[in-house]
Amino acid sequence: MTLQKYHEKRDFSRTPEPAGKREPASECSEGASRFLIQKHHARTLHYDLRLEDDGVLKSWAVPKGPSLDPAEKRLAVEVEDHPLEYGDFEGSIPEGEYGAGKVIVWDRGTFEPAGEGETFGEMLGSGAAKIRLSGQKLRGGYALVRTRWGGKATNWLLIKEKDGHARPGYDVTAEEPLSVLSGRDVDEVE
Ligand code: MN
Repeated sequence: MTLQKYHEKRDFSRTPEPAGKREPASECSEGASRFLIQKHHARTLHYDLRLEDDGVLKSWAVPKGPSLDPAEKRLAVEVEDHPLEYGDFEGSIPEGEYGAGKVIVWDRGTFEPAGEGETFGEMLGSGAAKIRLSGQKLRGGYALVRTRWGGKATNWLLIKEKDGHARPGYDVTAEEPLSVLSGRDVDEVE
């Protein structure tokens, strides 16, 4: 039932987004899971971080986008789980529909939990997840930490760890704006 909110918010006769379904949990919970970030120009431009867990994509809206600079703590607002097929979605959500606007796949790859023997789901449950990303733009360690900022349980911070993939002062969203699937920027989507 974890996609219930996703389905309630959308009319699949009107939006090109995938209806999708929850995939059965993988036999092997070890190893790499899917990671992606969509750039979404809705009422405001933002970035949607999605991380596979238990047959769905756990999702956060990141208003300022991710950073490669460990000094930048980026607000990440937890939103409804999305189906795994959403990871392939680029397109235009029509006016009047939920999230109306344009979407590209800004980065994509895999991730692994980097905690001490805990699964990703367990780390999310405890409000602090350490992960290692293998994307085309984002690589290495990241922490996703629940925060009391704003007094909302849905607010997390996304923070780059200090490692060989950190680039202090580098603005990855400005320097690398395009889709890793189609090479388009978000406003070039039809
Ligand atoms: Mn969004």
